[in-house]
Amino acid sequence: MKLHEYQSKAVFAESGVPIPRGGVASTASEAKSIAQELGGRVVVKAQVLVGGRGKAGGVRLANSPLEAEDLATQILGMRIKGLPVSKVLVDEAVEPVAEIYLGVTNDRMMGCPVMIASSEGGIDIEEVARSDPEKIVRVYIDPLLGLQEFQARYLASAIELPRNHWREFIKICLGLFNAYKKTDSTLAEINPLVITQDEKLLALDGKIVLDDNGLFRHPELVEMRNIDEEAPAEREARIYSLSYVKLEGEIGCMVNGAGLAMATMDLTKLAGGEPANFLDIGGGASAEKVAVGLRIILSDPNVKVVLVNVFGGITRCDEVARGILSAIESEKPEVPMVTRLVGTNEAEGRRLLADADMITASSLKEAARIAVEKSKEVGKK
Ligand code: GDP
Ligand code: MN
Repeated sequence: MKLHEYQSKAVFAESGVPIPRGGVASTASEAKSIAQELGGRVVVKAQVLVGGRGKAGGVRLANSPLEAEDLATQILGMRIKGLPVSKVLVDEAVEPVAEIYLGVTNDRMMGCPVMIASSEGGIDIEEVARSDPEKIVRVYIDPLLGLQEFQARYLASAIELPRNHWREFIKICLGLFNAYKKTDSTLAEINPLVITQDEKLLALDGKIVLDDNGLFRHPELVEMRNIDEEAPAEREARIYSLSYVKLEGEIGCMVNGAGLAMATMDLTKLAGGEPANFLDIGGGASAEKVAVGLRIILSDPNVKVVLVNVFGGITRCDEVARGILSAIESEKPEVPMVTRLVGTNEAEGRRLLADADMITASSLKEAARIAVEKSKEVGKK
């Protein structure tokens, strides 16, 4: 679960990270009165759960409360990467002289949290990683000891932060790590952390991604969820407890079991295609789950073909096949479907699908190859 910027900043502030003064508005007139209270220039920022709002025109500076009202009207009418903007954050504007990146996340390879800093903040850290990898510095954090002051000092020195800011920077690093740990986050990020003209450090943006498995410990954070603001496919997947991660490719993958889903994505890539998603419909693969999975995959306009890869263990393949057929009846996909069923009663399952004119494959490799071929054919039309 992701938190909005204004929610993330509030969590950061509780841990002693300095943030700009500001308030959240759902209407333009509320935005105007917040701007009035703040006085001076303000920045009006779309609160949507995606990055790159600045580039999309969702972060704008206003010189007066009237202008803030006007900008809020525009921004509240926007959709950013498909998501409607229902709230704006109105913050006092600052003049940054430098933009720093500071974040903490889980490093799965190292099996511990890692704090990452860069002097090149403000833009995507992935972009910096590509263009100037040496500009990104990391410290690995012992989960039992927590972030140590000397590690934060090392980050300050490695990003060549002017000495007069070190004390404050170290305090912010410790505060950010505390916020990350306290909320059971998988990511806590300040991008940018700015140095202002009057020589202060300030978190201008904030992002927290909570670990859903830790949510039961944080009812106060769960309350912050506003389901209207989640991407519809992700919301549906969450409600039906399917694991769904949207990716950028064209081959929709519907699979039971996380390991099998990973293998399916690997073989799709090996066959020269790009998976459109990771989707684990879980055990059972009942008609209902198959239908939901199919609906989620088809809601992605990039999908040109659906690859269904199901292993019938306790669930029998003929049952799964009936699930697929009834899902097709309800969802009426317009893209080709390639299925690979193995396990208990597979012959019967495959016959049912073949009778319904579906493309069936006997091995995963073959299924992936056909799916990639089909996706390229669709591309040519
Ligand atoms: P994001 O694009 O979704 O990451 O949104 P950010 O909150 O990071 O804002 C994008 C960019 O807008 C920042 O990197 C800053 O350069 C700029 N920005 C945000 N707030 C202010 C502000 O108060 N004053 C100025 N001058 N620029 C700002
Ligand atoms: Mn940002």
